[in-house]
Amino acid sequence: MTRVAFIGLGNMGSGMAANQAKAGREVVAFDLSADALARAKEQGMTPASSAGEACKDADIVITMLPAGQHVRDIYLEAILPNAPRDALLIDCSTIDVDGARTVARDASMQGFRTADAPVSGGTAAATGGTLTFMVGCREQDFADVEEALKPMAKAIIRAGDSGTGQAAKICNNMLLGISMIATSEAFALAESLGLDAQKFFDISSKASGQNWSMTSYCPWPGPVPAAPSNRDYEGGFAAAMMLKDLKLAYDAAGISGAPTPLGTNAMVIFDDLVAAGYGGKDFSIVLQMLRGTLPVLNRE
Ligand code: NAD
Repeated sequence: MTRVAFIGLGNMGSGMAANQAKAGREVVAFDLSADALARAKEQGMTPASSAGEACKDADIVITMLPAGQHVRDIYLEAILPNAPRDALLIDCSTIDVDGARTVARDASMQGFRTADAPVSGGTAAATGGTLTFMVGCREQDFADVEEALKPMAKAIIRAGDSGTGQAAKICNNMLLGISMIATSEAFALAESLGLDAQKFFDISSKASGQNWSMTSYCPWPGPVPAAPSNRDYEGGFAAAMMLKDLKLAYDAAGISGAPTPLGTNAMVIFDDLVAAGYGGKDFSIVLQMLRGTLPVLNRE
């Protein structure tokens, strides 16, 4: 039976690890949270007492951690010293491109095969096994990476060599952050000009302004019933997560020298939103900030 070490059982990792177990794989799971470990046990996984212990005898090691520093630390301290050399190491966290390449280089120098495989799709897709994976790995390793990710995936696309999965993720999310602000600005301007929001949607969704943020995730409540705007911006993709991804894009642009003026402005706007106390709300609440209708939070 394929043995999977799964490290990081948070909002995303808990559902992803459960889908590995449902696929009939033996999952040895680790998280710093005792509650997360208890839930993993209830779902048929074996809780480990440390990340290093989880990796022993693993065929596949999957990490789903908050940020680059967590991934770098756990690779150096737990995974590389403990996993068998023929284990396939896959990091699904969203981290910086350079960090992903450093981790891959350190691991490959010790004989491991690695992949960076960040995901698109939120917690519902993690639970439902319908995530899209953007993979950076060697071409000859991709078939095994695909097989490893299959129980968690709707789509698995190889972007190129190490780091390109992360590059695809941050470029996509920079585009998403910009398009959500652009769509919100257009709704706010339409309102100020006396144009009904539904009418604006009916026209623009069939005209050249059409985009995913408008037609699948409309920030104005009403036109797209499934969008978080209809649930007081609860659930969905947190503004703080969008800010994290925009900062990764900003840093990457600084290193590569690519001009990203709109990405930089989007980062500043989401930074304001998060600083105002709305980091936990869905990122489409940026519309309400631009309209000037966000209630002032009563913070101590
Ligand atoms: P989360 O904070 O809910 O989960 C992270 C988990 O990692 C926590 O349970 C934490 O206890 C654990 N952890 C931290 N350090 C650890 C360590 N040293 N050893 C073991 N466990 C440790 O975060 P999340 O929402 O699950 O996101 C995980 C990653 O996925 C992030 O990189 C995020 O950017 C990315 N992502 C999230 C979403 C989303 O909608 N939540 C969507 C796409 C991508």
